[in-house]
Amino acid sequence: MATEDVSHDLSSLLSSEERDFLIRNNGDQVPVSGLVGKNILLYFSAQWCPPCRAFLPKLIEAYHTIKAKGSAFEPLPFGDGMKQILDKKFKIEGIPTAVAIGPSGRTITKEARMHLTAYGADAFPFTEEHLKQLEEEIEKKAKGWPEKVKHELHSEHELIRTKRSSYNCDCCGESGYSWSFYCKECDFDLHPKCALKEDEDTGTEKGKEGFICDGDVCRKA
Ligand SMILES: [Zn+2]
Ligand SMILES: [Zn+2]
Repeated sequence: MATEDVSHDLSSLLSSEERDFLIRNNGDQVPVSGLVGKNILLYFSAQWCPPCRAFLPKLIEAYHTIKAKGSAFEPLPFGDGMKQILDKKFKIEGIPTAVAIGPSGRTITKEARMHLTAYGADAFPFTEEHLKQLEEEIEKKAKGWPEKVKHELHSEHELIRTKRSSYNCDCCGESGYSWSFYCKECDFDLHPKCALKEDEDTGTEKGKEGFICDGDVCRKA
């Protein structure tokens, strides 16, 4: 009986009287009945929107990673007649926006795009508890990072480990949230993963079964 309720909610949310399927951007029909019990991501975007185009590869990458872990995850891009209804229903004010809906048909968050940008596939399934746990892990990791680094991309000044709201990484060009290695004077940001890349690489090399890598050869320590 519970399944019927869920199915009803989801169906009324995603379909109209005339039809019970959604249309993907590629023209495939997605039957609403096949979405019950899955984690769904409603993705609102437009082809003319540059931030949408920039986000799409990230969404696709996250999708494949989440699928590879065996999770029931179905992103639904909207370039469809349903758009107005959903715009109204979810009060979508800007694009790209990604709304995560849980297996029960409940809206989990309208900020799934931000979480995907910040954490990638790790953000899944976007629940508050999961994101809180993720944030705690990052804070724990951040404590192990150096307070300052020198980086070849910004040799003028040291970069300070700083908590920022959002930024664009001056190394890889991708957006970032939360921790950055930052030069305030020059408004220069690096993702921790970009700023600490070399350190991490040598760190893993050293740890390999007592061998130390000198670049060409791994020697016994
Ligand atoms: Zn970066
Ligand atoms: Zn600087």
